[in-house]
Parts: sequence; C-alpha cells; structure tokens
Amino acid sequence: MRLHRLILCLLWLTSLPCVAEPVRLTAAGGFRVDLVPALGMLDPQVDTLDAQRAWDAVARGELSPLPGPNPSFGFVHGARWFFVRIDNVDHAAQRWQLVIEQPRIDEILIQTRDQAGEVREFLLGDRLPFAARGVAHRYPNVELALPRGGGLDVLIGVRSTSSIQLPLRLFTPTELWAASHDEQAGLGLYYGILLALFLYNLAVLASIRDASYAYYLAYLAAFGLLMLAFNGVGFQYLWPNATTWQSASLPVSIGAVLCSSLLFARSFLDLRRRVPRVARLFDWVVPGFALLSLLAFTRWQLQVTQLLNIGVIVFGIVVTVSALISGRSGYRPAWYFLLAWGLLIAGGVALPLSSFGLLPRSIATEFGLQIGSALEMLLLAFSLAYRIHLLRAEKEAVEYDARHTLEARVEERTRELAETAQALAQANAQLEDVNRRDGLTGVYNRRYLDEALRLQWQIAAETGRSLALLMIDIDHFKSINDQHGHGAGDDCLRVLGRLLEGCFPEHGVIIARYGGEEFTVVLPGHDRDMALQRAETLRGAIAARAFDTEAGAIAITVSIGVAAVDPPAILGAAELRKRSDDALYAAKRSGRNRVVAG
Ligand code: GH3
Ligand code: MG
Ligand code: MG
Repeated sequence: MRLHRLILCLLWLTSLPCVAEPVRLTAAGGFRVDLVPALGMLDPQVDTLDAQRAWDAVARGELSPLPGPNPSFGFVHGARWFFVRIDNVDHAAQRWQLVIEQPRIDEILIQTRDQAGEVREFLLGDRLPFAARGVAHRYPNVELALPRGGGLDVLIGVRSTSSIQLPLRLFTPTELWAASHDEQAGLGLYYGILLALFLYNLAVLASIRDASYAYYLAYLAAFGLLMLAFNGVGFQYLWPNATTWQSASLPVSIGAVLCSSLLFARSFLDLRRRVPRVARLFDWVVPGFALLSLLAFTRWQLQVTQLLNIGVIVFGIVVTVSALISGRSGYRPAWYFLLAWGLLIAGGVALPLSSFGLLPRSIATEFGLQIGSALEMLLLAFSLAYRIHLLRAEKEAVEYDARHTLEARVEERTRELAETAQALAQANAQLEDVNRRDGLTGVYNRRYLDEALRLQWQIAAETGRSLALLMIDIDHFKSINDQHGHGAGDDCLRVLGRLLEGCFPEHGVIIARYGGEEFTVVLPGHDRDMALQRAETLRGAIAARAFDTEAGAIAITVSIGVAAVDPPAILGAAELRKRSDDALYAAKRSGRNRVVAG
C-alpha cells in the first residue's frame, strides 16, 4: 500500500508538465480545501519579494508544479513565489480563510486579483506583529472574499530563515474554528503536562538538590519553548509583538534544547565516569552551541539554524551511543534514558513519515512530537527518581561498608591495644619481680624483705595474727670459700635458696637473702613453737644433705635464730628482726648448727 502511494507520488511528479487546474469550490466540496495540489511554483529567478515581476512571470506561464504532495523546500536564500487560482463555482460560503499551516515563515506577501482586475495585498509572517493576521490563530491567515461565480488569482511570496514548507489550505471561518478547537485542546493538554512536570520537579530539586534535576528542568523549559516557537502558540499568546524574538525564537530554542539535553545526558548518564571522553567533549560543545544560538539574532540566522540542526543530528547520535555504552557498563538508568529518548524520536519522525505518505495521517502522527516528548519527559522524571533511589542505595551500601570496616578496625585496634597493655603489664610485673629478687639465688632481696616484713607486721598487728621470723646464717662460710673457692660458695648459696623454697612452699611465706650468706624467712601465722619446729626441720634437712657445687659435694650447716610475736607484745618489725638476730648470735655462740629462739 505504501509502495503504491510512493509510485503514485512519483507518477504525479513526472506527469504534470504544467500547473494543475484551478481550485474549484463547489456546493458538494465541503468547507476545507487543500490548495497544495493546485499550487504552481514560480521559477527561482524571481527571488525578491517583488510582486510585479511575479505577476509577469505568471502571465508568461513560467509555472511548474510542486515536487510532491507536502513539499519542503528546505533552507532557501531569497524569496519563493507560488500561484493558485480559486474559482467559487457554486459554494454557498463567500468568505474563506486562506491559512498557511506553518507558523515560522518570516515574510509572506499575498496578492489577490479578482475578475475585475482589482489587486489586494496582505503582509503576514514573523516580521509583523501577531495582530496583522486575519483572525487570531497560531497559523498565519488572511480572509478572502469569494462570491459565488467569482474567482481569485492568488500570488504568494515567502522569504524565511527557517526551512520553507507551504501547507496552504482554505477554510470557511466556522470550519477553521472547529478544526482549531481540538488542536487547541491537545496543545493545552501538552503544555499542561509540561508545566505540571516542571513545577513538580522544581519542588523535587528544592529538596534533593541533585544537578540532574536542574538540567532536566532546563531541558523541559527549553523543549517547551521550542514547541511554543515551533507551533506558533508562543507568538500567539506569549510574545505577540516581539517580532525580533519570534524570528529568532526557533534557533535559540533549538540551541537551548541542544545544550540542556547534552548537560542532562552528561549528568544523568554519569558520562564523566563512564564515557569521560564524551563528557570532556561536551565541556567544549555546550558553550559553543550556546554562543552559536546567540548569533540567531544577527543576519546569520539561516546559517545558525542549519548548524544547530546538524548539531541536533550529530549529538543525537553521540548521546545515543554514550547511553548505550553507559547502559552496557552496568548503569541501569541509561536504559530508561534510551527508552525515553526513543519515544521522543518515534514521535518526532511520525510527522515526516506521514508527510511522505508512509504512515497514515492521524492525531498520533500530527501530534507525534508532542505526544513523544510528553511521554519522554514523564519517563525521564521517573528515571530521575529511580536514579536517585539507586544512588541513595549505593551510598547507603558504601556507608554500611565503611561503618562496618571502621567498627572492625576499631575492634582490632582495641584488641591490639589490650594485648600490648597486657604484655606491658607482664613486662612490668617481670621487671618489678626482677627488682625484688636477689640476682644470685633467685629468692627475694633485702629491699623487698624490708617492705614485705613491714606489711606483714601491719597485718599481724591489725588482725592479731602471730608472725615469726627465722634468721639463717651458714656456719664457717668464709672457710668454705677459702677452701673450695668463691664459685663453690656461690653454688652453696644457690642450692640453699632452692632448698628454702622447697621447705616453705606455702603462700604468704617470704624467703629473702638478707645479705652475704644470711637468709631470712618470714612466717605469717606462726607462733614461737611452730616456728621453732619449722626451723629445726630446716636445720636438720640442711645438715643431712650434701650441697652440689662446682667443687663437688659440700656439707654445710646453718645456725638459725627464731623470733615470734603474738601482737601487741612487740612494738615493731625492726624489733622482731633484732630479736631473731640476737637469737642467731646466741646460736652461733652456743656452737653453731643449731636453732635458738629469742
Ligand atoms: P660464722 O660461722 O661465724 O658465720 O663464720 P663465717 O665464716 O660464716 O662468717 P663471716 O662473717 O666471717 O664470713 C662470711 C663470709 O661469707 C665472708 C665472705 O667471703 C662470704 N660471703 C659473703 N657473701 C658471699 C657471696 O656472695 N659469695 C661467696 N662465695 N661468699 C660470700
Ligand atoms: Mg654471717
Ligand atoms: Mg656465717
């Protein structure tokens, strides 16, 4: 079917050597007439808006048919002229609106010539305020008087910096209103959606402060502006007298859409991280296009519009590829972006496809760009929310990890510290113990003995418990040294130390080397008799064994002085010691190798 249409279209192109017949308005013909098939096109030689030359050319028959049913002439330098003859055969309507369904043409000069040869001129287009139009409609239009039986030659000259199409139609005034009624409702709905999305996301931006939302809003606003400029609604309602702006509004809004969409894509698709080369490219391209858009206010408007259109196509492809790369790198919001982007493109190409007859014309194709862009904006708003959700989840996961890693590290450090502290305490304890010990024999030293004895004395005094002290001195040790050498003497002292520890294993007993070859044993809880008994056992044990030394086994004996107290009989520890000392001397004097109690 489409192929069939295409062939018809080609046949139409080749089979019309001259201009088609005049448009005939008949009673059966309806209230809306498409003038395009009947339009003749003047050769491009008449490229100024000089109507007289155009009329002359028409008179010479220099007319050719239009190249297709909905032709676009693209960007044209200079003027283009068109001609159509309209005859009202027997149509009841006498007044008609000639409508150019393209709101962006800069200059439109229309001259009509009735059968009496009277010429009327109308000036329309962007360069004139909105009020210059026949009726207030977003499309330029003029009113034509077409009495029954009468006819009009209509000459239309156009000149514009935007691309030129000439969808020319004739409506009765009522029909025009009926047709625009639905259209206006559709446009109202579209701008309503855009405005609601804008305000809602503005509120979201205020609370979330994510750059993507700001770019989205800029894109939404730029796209809204583009559509306002594109379909003439902006000129009708927002800037009816700002003709300079009206003429520049399309390229400027295309530039704004381009810049804001690139910024949005860069931020939304996370291009800085995922496709850094493209992100860096945008750093140059965006300001470049922004500056270029400003040139739309100069006489290079046509070139600016062309360059911007090329920019849209090139960067449309760049963004699509970047979105694919970003999506394939595992960034899921990129797929939503592509879907939204696809909707816009599908809507955007529906109109041209239907213009070429490849798609049946319908509301969906006529308003394809509006429907596509509204869906795109809506989907992007959802994608933004989804992206924020993802980012938040990612952030929480990172925070969770960080918190746990931190906790684990704190725990580890605490354990290490505790271990170090323990090791230090142990080392301290060891050090302290070493300080308390006698280097040769390993039993307590004199310094510790003094402290411990004082403490034991206090405990005994406070609790009423008895306390005993043994002073042990090796007999004739000097002669052992003399006889066997000091090394053997030292060995005797070591063995005696160990022997003492073996004889008094119980907790609380303090065994110390008092000095030289004298030892002291503090026996808490021992009265005089108990101490005497323990001393006697000790003395016997020493006398009974031989001491292993480097000089062989040596037999030694000891004399022991014993003193014991049942507090408060004695005044202090020093007194106790002195008494044991005295007892020791008594033991020495009475022949050695014996125990004497003081
Ligand atoms: P007494 O029976 O009267 O106690 O006679 P003694 O020879 O044991 O007493 P004296 O006080 O005359 O001599 C003690 C000796 O102990 C003198 C000293 O050489 C010896 N001596 C003191 N400290 C050490 C020591 O650390 N190692 C050795 N090998 N000998 C020591
Ligand atoms: Mg001595
Ligand atoms: Mg001695």
